[in-house]
Amino acid sequence: METANQINLMGMDREHMTRFFAGIGQMPFRASQVMKWIHQQGVLNFEEMTNLSRSLREELVEVANVSLPEIISDHISSDGTRKWLLRVDKTNAIEMVFIPEVRRGTLCVSSQAGCILDCAFCATGKQGYSRDLTSAEIVGQLWLAKFLLAQHYDTDDRLVSNIVMMGMGEPLLNYDNVVSAMNIMQDDFSFGLSRRRITLSTAGIVPAIDRLKADCPVSLAVSLHAPNNELRDSIVPLNKKYPIAVLLDACRRYVADSARARVTFEYVMLQEVNDEPKHARQLAELLKDMPGKVNLIPFNPFKGSEFKRSSNNRIHRFRDHLQQQGVLTTIRKTRGDDIGAACGQLAGMVTDRTRRSQRYVQGLGKYYRPEIEKTEN
Ligand code: SAH
Repeated sequence: METANQINLMGMDREHMTRFFAGIGQMPFRASQVMKWIHQQGVLNFEEMTNLSRSLREELVEVANVSLPEIISDHISSDGTRKWLLRVDKTNAIEMVFIPEVRRGTLCVSSQAGCILDCAFCATGKQGYSRDLTSAEIVGQLWLAKFLLAQHYDTDDRLVSNIVMMGMGEPLLNYDNVVSAMNIMQDDFSFGLSRRRITLSTAGIVPAIDRLKADCPVSLAVSLHAPNNELRDSIVPLNKKYPIAVLLDACRRYVADSARARVTFEYVMLQEVNDEPKHARQLAELLKDMPGKVNLIPFNPFKGSEFKRSSNNRIHRFRDHLQQQGVLTTIRKTRGDDIGAACGQLAGMVTDRTRRSQRYVQGLGKYYRPEIEKTEN
């Protein structure tokens, strides 16, 4: 039985875990043993961790647990994109999305329940902010995806090869928990992902960008979305606090001492709002000495949104303008939009969805029964 004063080991990075074991009079190597059991073997039960002494196992059962968010639903899109709704507590749910591609798979991870930033075109922003996720709830998303997908495809291959912190929430406003979770993702005794395969996307919390460089220099993506302050103020309200020039300086500092590193600038394509040739010119001017690239994201509409997706012609014209001016530019393929899994559509309100809740069974393999809810198109 889980009790309130038990500590959850799912979200502990090596440093925390070592401190935890020191606190119960154990040697530091216990940290890596337990991390391997949890994140490499997928074992959540202390009784099954057979290289720990019986007395240590018994003590762990008393003082600790390894717990995960609960799966509420699982949708699979016609293009193979998969979205899970996860319950994190009685009133909050979050979404995570898996995007399979040839020889790689990207998991889009949430960092908060809701979001405080209220960007004009984002579904998560519309539902307001509820709370930060714990590091266990953040890294637990990768754990679930890794072991559920291995079970589903009957393979141990690394189905999740890349992580994007682009789900619900602003990761840099939940700094400590996000960094702990990303440390576990990178740890050789856990998931062992290289830092370049983890991308953190931010609307531009400038002081935290500098901290991140020192603490956990993963790949950086910045949600720019507009080439001048007037327009950016109106669609990304955070711009009033950290305007474009200040943000771009932080981006330059982030990649300053690495010849290979680039910042990805995300730019959501909103018809007749930010997609005119003059905007492309301004953007190219802004980014002219920046080690970066632009990723154009076709706007994904959601119920109640006031914007329209730019037409393909306008998106291509915008890309061509940028490329002619020497800016590396790609267009993001929209995936999973038939199941509401496309960028910016995530809105894990739990209230009206819990009725579909599926019972979950604890224990590896039995943790979840993959009764996939197929979405009709
Ligand atoms: N808060 C972070 C990460 C979450 S959003 C950030 O702002 O970067 C991940 C990306 O999806 C951001 O670039 C965001 O601007 C974009 N996005 C949000 N809503 C969208 C929508 N409806 N259509 C397309 N992209 C959207």
